Amino acid sequence: MVFYALLVGAELDGLTNLQPAGGCDDPTYPYYFKLRCEGCTETSTKTTCVSLDEVVELSNGKGTANLVQKCKFCPREGSIVMIPGQGTPLTSELSQKGEMACLMVFECRGCEPTEFAFGNGWKAESVHGTKFDIDLSEGEFDEYDESGGCPVSLSKLQSTFKVVKKQGFHGKTRYV
Ligand SMILES: [Zn+2]
Repeated sequence: MVFYALLVGAELDGLTNLQPAGGCDDPTYPYYFKLRCEGCTETSTKTTCVSLDEVVELSNGKGTANLVQKCKFCPREGSIVMIPGQGTPLTSELSQKGEMACLMVFECRGCEPTEFAFGNGWKAESVHGTKFDIDLSEGEFDEYDESGGCPVSLSKLQSTFKVVKKQGFHGKTRYV
């Protein structure tokens, strides 16, 4: 199995704390991406969706996963377990440094996540504390913060899945 961290970045103007509407560990937030098969290296044509509250039995009877999907091109079956408690919002500080934030960690067997898709159901707040619901389907967001009296915007969305390793650190588990 391999652990993949979902990293997201964006240019934030007057905004901070970009994350799914219920937080990174929102049980119902659907993370959308495609799967590349480890057996035949083909990438699925359809986008897959995983969320923490979707739990399925593994076909070998050895536990559960958040997704079990058979490859369309070979007999291989892949599975994904989401690991909550590792995500942080994308802050304006990270954005200004050109860094990305880890939202979620995925433990993958037989498949590799790729091509993350930003959809609806995100939130952020202005630097004055005004909260905004954000639809990232179009990849951009422009609004005016009435109470703060300044325009806010988001652009240049990017995302990547980075291979990370599980580490014990002062009694806690981290993925770096
Ligand atoms: Zn395959």
